[in-house]
Amino acid sequence: MVNIVLFGPPGAGKGTQSEGIIKKYQLSHISTGDLFRKHLKEGTALGKLAQQYMDAGNLVPDQVVIDMVDDKIKSDGKINGYIFDGFPRTVAQAEALDKLMNGKSTPISCMIALEVSKAELVKRLLNRGKTSGRVDDQDESKIQNRITVYENETIPVANYYKNQGKFNGIQGIGEVDSIFKNICKVIDARL
Ligand code: ADP
Repeated sequence: MVNIVLFGPPGAGKGTQSEGIIKKYQLSHISTGDLFRKHLKEGTALGKLAQQYMDAGNLVPDQVVIDMVDDKIKSDGKINGYIFDGFPRTVAQAEALDKLMNGKSTPISCMIALEVSKAELVKRLLNRGKTSGRVDDQDESKIQNRITVYENETIPVANYYKNQGKFNGIQGIGEVDSIFKNICKVIDARL
């Protein structure tokens, strides 16, 4: 069992790289952004609650996110491991995830952090906004807000995993395939 936290700012390529990782290692994908968007589409109470935060580029409150992940994991059968994408985004979420996974005797194996410059992120997100239909990708001030929230609330999560000796930084600019190869090296070392 290998449990990976895929980390990085909005637009770093977490979704793209997740696809390859899931296929190669047969992992179960937990993307909190995708889960919220699914709730939104289905018009659930959770989706309605999350929407105001998401549209503004702010974080959904910790307990809401943690309960959603908890529910998702409880409903899973036997699996090879997880890739967490866009979660944990605060230290409180990281602590809750540790509690959850340690409680199942399947701790987090490592964090893989995709490193991309701010200018490149804004460019990628605005470009994605042309086709994604995501409100939060279409407005430069919302994108800037997401990056600011990332810097203030999410970067401390990297330190949390650094302190546990689980942090691995990967250059996130370049060919998708060569970034993927570097990610695989980190994962293979943990198998
Ligand atoms: P991106 O990484 O491109 O910003 P995501 O799809 O991961 O986008 O998330 C979109 C939005 O969903 C976030 O801006 C936030 O409002 C909400 N969200 C997703 N994951 C979390 C989380 N772990 N904690 C709080 N809010 C979250």
